[in-house]
Amino acid sequence: MPNEPLNVPPPEPFPQMNVPIATDLIPLISALNHTYPEELALHYVVPNAPCNAPGCGYDPVTQLALNVMCPTCGGRGLITTDTVITVPASIDYPDEFTYQYLPAGFSLTGDVMAIVDSYEIGMYDINPETVTYYTWQGSDYILDKMEKGVINGIVYEYDIYLTKKGVQGGE
Ligand SMILES: [Zn+2]
Repeated sequence: MPNEPLNVPPPEPFPQMNVPIATDLIPLISALNHTYPEELALHYVVPNAPCNAPGCGYDPVTQLALNVMCPTCGGRGLITTDTVITVPASIDYPDEFTYQYLPAGFSLTGDVMAIVDSYEIGMYDINPETVTYYTWQGSDYILDKMEKGVINGIVYEYDIYLTKKGVQGGE
């Protein structure tokens, strides 16, 4: 839909379960989510990625490396990689978070809450549950819990509650 007008009010910052809303609004929400100013880094493990050493790779026929003498993969053709992607996110944290905007029954259980559009994760074809840790503004965070924002059965965003690594009840 080219020339989709963008001068509409932004969506509610939190998923509202029973709001009647047209499914074709989801691309518009994604476009708005993509303008989030923060950047959240997602670190995840790919356990069986093809070896990327020069002259090597995975041979599906032999189920071994293209170069069986390859020191990188030990001749397996597969390596475990730590991969990181950086996605736009909206980050709320207690110091700046305006609790007055919290809907009734909503509570922040982690140190920060990040909203990431499902499109941002979906384009990488990864399962967000496999993310091992997150980095935001130079600090590492682990997942506390993840909630999905759903409209008409379609997941359009992830609400990601994060706890700072190595901090237990810190100030
Ligand atoms: Zn190799």
